[in-house]
Amino acid sequence: MKRLIFLGPPGAGKGTQAKILSDTYKIPHISTGDILRSAVKDQTPLGQKAQSYMDRGELVPDDLILDLIKERLNESDASDGWVLDGFPRNVSQASFLEELLKELNFAADYVLNLEVPDEILVERLLSRKRKDDNEDTIRRRLEIYHKDTVPVISFYRDRNILEVIQGDASMDTVTTSLKTVIEK
Ligand code: AMP
Repeated sequence: MKRLIFLGPPGAGKGTQAKILSDTYKIPHISTGDILRSAVKDQTPLGQKAQSYMDRGELVPDDLILDLIKERLNESDASDGWVLDGFPRNVSQASFLEELLKELNFAADYVLNLEVPDEILVERLLSRKRKDDNEDTIRRRLEIYHKDTVPVISFYRDRNILEVIQGDASMDTVTTSLKTVIEK
């Protein structure tokens, strides 16, 4: 049983690695970014509210995200593990998740922090060609990451479940490092 949380800046490779671990361990990959992008594509009420924040590289307000993650983690396929990618993005989301997992009698097994230097991130993001991957938005997303998401690293370090993995390596090397940590 694996309950994994990915942390790391935009462009660190969280999505790619989360997908690989999801296939390997047969657990759902839960990406709030993917859920939001699909809501925007379908122009659902959530998508309409989230779109302008995403286009600017800002975080979508917590009240749009918290219910969504609660519902997702209550689905039956999430009872035996999951890999969370893109959530929590700030300390209030991390506290919410902690309470939610307590209610469900779960705890996260590992918080995997993928470390990649900023200059490599910008390079990778610019080559990705996603709608919100232009230079201004990338800069804004990195700022938000440093301001809101970096404090989440200490939140989990204080709880002794943080593992730091160097994400500035080939995809296979990073996957191997992650599996070594998870399977130890
Ligand atoms: P991502 O695919 O994780 O890079 O997310 C893309 C965009 O979706 C972010 O820039 C935010 O606007 C929004 N987003 C994704 N996850 C969250 C979250 N947990 N809290 C707030 N906004 C989020």
